[in-house]
Amino acid sequence: MYGYRYYWGFDWTYLLLVIGMLLSLAASAKVKSTFAAYKRVRSASGLTGAMAAQKILYAAGITDVQITRVSGSLTDHYDPRNKTLALSDEVYGSTSLAAVGVAAHECGHAIQHDTGYAPLEFRSAIVPVANIGAQLSWPLFVAGLIFSIQPLLTLGIILFSLAVLFQLVTLPVEINASSRALNNLQSLGILGQNEIRGARKVLSAAALTYVAALASSILQLLRLVILAGGRRRDD
Ligand SMILES: [Zn+2]
Repeated sequence: MYGYRYYWGFDWTYLLLVIGMLLSLAASAKVKSTFAAYKRVRSASGLTGAMAAQKILYAAGITDVQITRVSGSLTDHYDPRNKTLALSDEVYGSTSLAAVGVAAHECGHAIQHDTGYAPLEFRSAIVPVANIGAQLSWPLFVAGLIFSIQPLLTLGIILFSLAVLFQLVTLPVEINASSRALNNLQSLGILGQNEIRGARKVLSAAALTYVAALASSILQLLRLVILAGGRRRDD
């Protein structure tokens, strides 16, 4: 029962979890404050998030994506399964730089889907295994610690790595969607040069949350590796 103290007793590796949590909190605060600042700045074109999205999709030759309204704040997303571009209340009907920027970002995902952008396809393909990995890794790992079964520890780490891989491949997908968004906003004349800067700040802040999520899962993975290593030395 050596593994017990790692789970219930004092364990310095908790620090890794705390650092990850703080990073995520900081990134989330940054995206909220940036969004709040730019949702007060109206775009000169007067297009709402939904209208801007319609214009971008049309220009990309995409006619089978439905733009819908979803409740909540920063709940905007593109669902490739039913080709739905869901815009939140603050984005759908607002003409702010934040709203237009976020709407254009979601269009970026719809365009990625339409053109078969490889990182997005890879990401969609690993969603099921990443979910299973995230759910099973910790129970298996804890069982491995408590009953001193090395293969369970290794399996737990491998499964958790799948969840980290998902976060890793999410990064290029998100950054690419934002860069498509800014290009489209500019080339279609939806936002002017100065306005683009505001939209870029909103989208960069949003990208930070994905960087923080990745850093946080890498720290969690590191913690599992350290705990498994400590376990081995006890044998
Ligand atoms: Zn996105």
